Formats: sequence, structure tokens, C-alpha cells
Amino acid sequence: MDLIVRRAVLAHGHPAGHATVDIGIESGRIVAVEPHIDTQADAQAREVIDAGGMLVSAPFVDAHFHMDATLSYGLPRVNASGTLLEGIALWGELKPHLTQEALVERALQYCDWAVARGLLAIRSHVDVCDERLLAVEALLEVKRRVAPYLDLQLVAFPQDGVLRSPGAFDNLKRAIAMGVDVVGGIPHFERTMADGAESVRLLCEFAAEKGLRVDMHCDESDDPLSRHIETLAAQTHRLGLHGRVTGSHLTSMHSMDNYYVSKLIPLIRESGVSAIANPLINITLQGRADTYPKRRGMTRVPELMAAGVTVAFGHDCVMDPWYSFGSGDMLEVAHMGLHVAQMTGVDATRACFDAVTVNPAQILGLEGYGIAPGCAANLVVLDARDPIEAIRLRAARLAVVSRGRVVSRQPPQRASLTLDGRPGSVDFKLHR
Ligand SMILES: [Zn+2]
Repeated sequence: MDLIVRRAVLAHGHPAGHATVDIGIESGRIVAVEPHIDTQADAQAREVIDAGGMLVSAPFVDAHFHMDATLSYGLPRVNASGTLLEGIALWGELKPHLTQEALVERALQYCDWAVARGLLAIRSHVDVCDERLLAVEALLEVKRRVAPYLDLQLVAFPQDGVLRSPGAFDNLKRAIAMGVDVVGGIPHFERTMADGAESVRLLCEFAAEKGLRVDMHCDESDDPLSRHIETLAAQTHRLGLHGRVTGSHLTSMHSMDNYYVSKLIPLIRESGVSAIANPLINITLQGRADTYPKRRGMTRVPELMAAGVTVAFGHDCVMDPWYSFGSGDMLEVAHMGLHVAQMTGVDATRACFDAVTVNPAQILGLEGYGIAPGCAANLVVLDARDPIEAIRLRAARLAVVSRGRVVSRQPPQRASLTLDGRPGSVDFKLHR
């Protein structure tokens, strides 16, 4: 074995009677997950990591991001109102000034942050409403450059509307031909509800013809009558795309009539459509036109989960025209998600950890994801004893392993104290 991780706590339990497991890695694969790997193996291993009873998880996965806009904060100006519409307008101002070199450099810098946070798979939308397809070329280049350590999946995203923006559908088709993986859309931004529904039909038929996955920005609105998710589910069902289609945001569901939702959620489940909420962005962008009470705007996460729909939390934005904050930390995303959704129970909090790990991995269709023999050797050692503590502390990533190689290390979080009669340090964990 090349690498052995000893005394690991796993997010989803162990063989009965054992508090920890050892994980053996060889040639980029996990080959053993056992209570005790023989210590004689240590001599042959290139490296041995002692997790010391801390949580070892498969890496974080972000199912919804915009890497073409990330780290562009302040270019050419900041979003003064902080609203979605000023963000879209600002992105429109920035687009003509984008250069491929700057796009690639910002995206690579973000991927460095991601790796350090144990975030090793990202689905990024890339705007195709630009004749030059500059961002598409740039992110395809980034995808090639990060492939040795990070899985980047790209969505052809017609930001200004596939019908509303001249030439957008042709550009989207060109982007797919160039190697972009997933078909995107934005039905609520088309001119009418009817155009929105037509865009969903058109894009789902194109995806079915090409055998591709679909991920649409869908109903990112506080309008309870924005019901494109219904059309997306129906088209998915009609075209037999079950398990390959995702509705991102779905914020209008927050404001929908409960009786209508009682029909809608089973329809989403029946069509195998998965859902992505973006808690940091939804809580800041939605409900902007409200006085008080002010709606939270995030979609109905616990209800969708209870119905058996796969739900992930995405980061969406980091330091871009829409959002000035963030650092690629999916634990921060989960932390906000559980607060907004009031998912503070034990099982609910664990479900929020799954929403930034196993659930998005399923949505992306990642192969070999997990901590089990045969899985890809991608993992993160967290400075926390379980998923709940990891979220509470936004725990340090003590070690990040990608393709069987340690790619990042971080010291544990400690503060030293100089108080008379008190301990010399704290680590913010509960010790009894
Ligand atoms: Zn988005």
C-alpha cells in the first residue's frame, strides 16, 4: 500500500464493535477499510497518516458554482444594492472586458482554495451568452489543468435566456460540441412563462438526443407562480431522463401554496429530478422586495429530502458580482443551510453534511465516490470527531488526499491562553 490512514472515524458508521477504522490506499484506489491494517504494512507505505479518532470523509462536492465569475469582486465595480438583478447587470458590464488569461488565473486560484478545503469535485455553470465563448474556452482549459487533482464538470449556461438572448441556443450547442458536459437553462429569465416552458422542452430534448445531463437554474424567484420545476419534472418524465436532471435554486417553492406543493414534490420524486439549494445565496438574494416579514427564500429542503428527492447544497458564488463572501468552504454552506432550513436535529444535521458530500456526488454522477474498497482514493481528514462537530467548527482540513496523494495539509485549530488558573489552550471541542 502507498498510503495508510489510521484510526479514522467515518461519517456513516463502522464494523460493529470498532470505534475507528484504518484505510489502505494503493495506486490511487482505496484497497482496504478495516478495523486494523497490519502494522507491518507501514514499512512499505510511502506515508502513514494518524487520524487519531477524527472524522475521515469522502471529499466535499459542490454541485452548483460559477467559476467564470469567481474572484472577480470589484471588477469593474461592486454590486451596490446586492440584488440578483444588479448582479446580472454587473456581470453584463464585466463580460466584454474578460480575458482568457485572467479567467483561467482566477479559476485556478479558486481551485487552490477548494483543494485546501477538501473540495475535490465542482459542477460549474459557464455562461454561453457570448459569441466568442471566451469563458467556455477558459474553463475547458482549467478543467484540463486541474484534472490531476480535481473533478470539474461544466454546465452550458445561457445566463440571458436561451430564447431571449439572440444566438444563445447555437452557442450552447457549440459549447457542448467543445466538451462542456451538462445542458443548462434559466426558464424564469425568459420573457414569458410560456417561453420559459418552451425553453425547458427545447433544452431537455437536446439533452435527450445527446445523452447528456441537465441542470437548470429554475424558479430563482420569490414569485409563487413561477412553476418551471413542474415543467422540468414533466419533460424529464416524458423523455425518460430520470436520474439525470437537476433543478437548481427552486426558490419559488418557498413561497408556493402548500396544496400545490403537495402535488409537486411527488411529481419531482416520480421523475427522479434532484434539487440543489444554495443557502448562502438564497438567504441573501431572495425576499429582497419584502418588507416584514421577510421570506428566507430557500427551497423546501427537509420536505424534499423526506419525499426521497436527492438534495444538495451548492456554494453558487464566491467573491463575484452576486456575492462578496466565501472561501470554498462547503462546511460554511452546510452551516448556513441547516440554519435557514432549521435542520438542527441530529439526523437533520447529518443530512446537511450529506448535502455537501454524498448527495452532490450522486448528482454529478461521480464514479468511485466514497470510503470503501474499490473507491477512488479521495478523502479529507477533518479536525472534528463527527459530521455535526465538523459543521459546527467548520473544522480544519488536517489532510486532503486526491488520487492517492496528500495535496494539502492544515494545522488543527487551537488557541493558546495565558489566564491564571485556566488551561493553557482551547480547541473549541467539548471535553468531558
Ligand atoms: Zn447559479
